[in-house]
Amino acid sequence: MRPTLLTPLFAAATALPGIGPKIASLVDRLLSEPGRAARVIDVLFHLPHATIDRRTRPKIRDAPLDSVVTLEGVVVEHRPSRSAKGPYRVLVEDETGDVQLVFFLANHQWIERSLPVGARRWVSGKLELWDGHLQMVHPDRVLDEAGLAKMPAVEPVYGLTEGLSPRVLAKAAVAATQRLPAMPEWLDAAFLQQRHLPSFAEALGAMHMPQTPQNIEPTSSNGVRLAYDELLASQLALVMVRAKMRETAGRAHLGDGHLARKIETALPFSLTPSQRQALDEIRADLSAPKRMLRLLQGDVGSGKTVVGLLAMAGVVESGRQAAMMAPTEVLARQHFERITPLAAAAGIEVVLLTGRDRASERADKLAGLESGHVHIAIGTHALFQEAVIFKDLALAVVDEQHRFGVHQRLALGSKGAAVDILVMTATPIPRTLVLTYFGDMDVSTLRDKPAGRQPIDTRAVPVERLDDVISAIGRALQGGAQAYWICPLVTESEELDLAAAEERYGSLRSIFGESVGLVHGQMKGRDKDEAMEKFQRGETRVLIATTIVEVGVDVPNATIMVIEHAERFGLAQLHQLRGRVGRGSGKSTCLLLYKGPLGEVARARLEIMRETEDGFRIAEEDLRLRGEGEVLGTRQSGTPGFKLANLDVHAPLLAIARDDAKLILAQDPDLQSPRGEALRVLLYLFERDEAVRLLRAG
Ligand code: ADP
Ligand code: MG
Repeated sequence: MRPTLLTPLFAAATALPGIGPKIASLVDRLLSEPGRAARVIDVLFHLPHATIDRRTRPKIRDAPLDSVVTLEGVVVEHRPSRSAKGPYRVLVEDETGDVQLVFFLANHQWIERSLPVGARRWVSGKLELWDGHLQMVHPDRVLDEAGLAKMPAVEPVYGLTEGLSPRVLAKAAVAATQRLPAMPEWLDAAFLQQRHLPSFAEALGAMHMPQTPQNIEPTSSNGVRLAYDELLASQLALVMVRAKMRETAGRAHLGDGHLARKIETALPFSLTPSQRQALDEIRADLSAPKRMLRLLQGDVGSGKTVVGLLAMAGVVESGRQAAMMAPTEVLARQHFERITPLAAAAGIEVVLLTGRDRASERADKLAGLESGHVHIAIGTHALFQEAVIFKDLALAVVDEQHRFGVHQRLALGSKGAAVDILVMTATPIPRTLVLTYFGDMDVSTLRDKPAGRQPIDTRAVPVERLDDVISAIGRALQGGAQAYWICPLVTESEELDLAAAEERYGSLRSIFGESVGLVHGQMKGRDKDEAMEKFQRGETRVLIATTIVEVGVDVPNATIMVIEHAERFGLAQLHQLRGRVGRGSGKSTCLLLYKGPLGEVARARLEIMRETEDGFRIAEEDLRLRGEGEVLGTRQSGTPGFKLANLDVHAPLLAIARDDAKLILAQDPDLQSPRGEALRVLLYLFERDEAVRLLRAG
């Protein structure tokens, strides 16, 4: 149970002043996670990324242009425009000069009330020179003396969503800091002193009510304090999870290789050297009496699935069972279809478990797993459900890991005695991040791609040439090709993504007719499968899709990838999408349709895409351009899984937090001491509940 002192922080954000039902939906869009509304703590942890400094108070004559200044002066004259659409100007002067305040589509009443002629006013905003006059267009602040006294000299700037006013959010954030309860200090006193760190509450207060722009810097003592707390919470949780996993000693699953050999014989290709090496490493782990926790990294198309299958065959040889978990139904089904015929060649029984099996089918499958008649289960998170009981689960293979949390991994691990875990990811993960997300996992890497792959011809094409692209695709289709057409990512809104996809679907269908298919995230599962299968079977030749095909889908005959509004996608995502083609022996093309003018980062991204197909290089470039967040494929900025820490800046703290966590748990494994009690509060605060649950279980 979460300590009651934290209750106010986990209340709905609507508890904050200014957040009514209407605003709440905007705040949800900005801050909530699927399945639950935004809470006070989400507002609190949404830190400002910049400030507006209104402390500069020059005389009008000395005021710098193009930066924010606060000017004091007397209102001299109003000059409403003669035409309805013209600007309303107000002249303000001090003893050194004058400035025109300019209001477009002005609310006359408001202007007359706020800026009466003869009154002394303070206006704050950006000053510019226009036609020889100093002017301030739509000042951010128009204040009398009383207003000035209340104006924050340094104003935090938050990431927003359309329709949400910055002031509403700022006010809510301040109110949220006032709800912070008195919490015990969980950091070591000497450490705090040595690093001159404020308390957790002080740091949050300073972030939301900065006195200087430096207060909100990630490298400031406030930024460091908050990041360290979050990193410590995550490292404590990881160390606890690891300890728990190690507690149950592993088992050896010594297969003799006879089933894996049969599968290999049935493969239409031979393994690449890195697949072979990864497999050797995995088999060595499996045959040792310790628990395997191994990450298999390999670029898109490097052939991870077959490695996972051969690993599973290894434990089946020893009379035990294996499970493979995919993040989506589409992928689970694809794995199932790929694996079943190969497994059959070795007499291995496989079932597919998804969220929508009919009851009778499901009962049969579950019975098969429980009796041990079925050797391998492939599925989505449906595999976690309590009703799923294995006779003797020995290995869990988790595909495209970063979509699952530690907690889910644990749930699968608990389905058998000392289950070995193999995590497969297409995202080359820098060492520091491996540490963060996976603890001390062992890593196997697939560096080479299967032989016979041809380079993908990647081009950036301005959207103005859409018609040319469509006719080129028409020609390619006639030649037997298949194409993916990825629709624009409309930030923040799945509904808009969908609208864009449907519109494109309509327009391409009017050109190419029945051969065009559509798949998107909001389709019902069965419809999604059907759309994918039709494309896989070649019944549809062009598949319009939202980013749902980003991860893992494999249709070797598809050789064309069109990505609309490519400038909106992150590098990792572009690379993943492109990885859907170039999988067969045919020559493939990737067209990055963009709408100019391109920003610097977008231009660099498209450039890198054209230059290289090397996922590791792309990951590095991505890291350089955008920070770790993009490397792991999450769209929000910052480091995924973290709200306050950003490993671009705070990576050095990670190792300290890790040592700290180890030391703490070595001395106080059940967090019983006074500091331990405080650390439990920390774990709840950062919602590392799974760790606390472990404590209780232990
Ligand atoms: P990913 O690593 O992206 O998950 P997949 O496992 O889906 O890649 O494999 C991509 C494609 O490459 C599949 O069609 C698979 O059958 C094929 N493949 C895998 N290994 C080899 C190999 N050694 N030689 C040729 N093709 C291979
Ligand atoms: Mg895959």
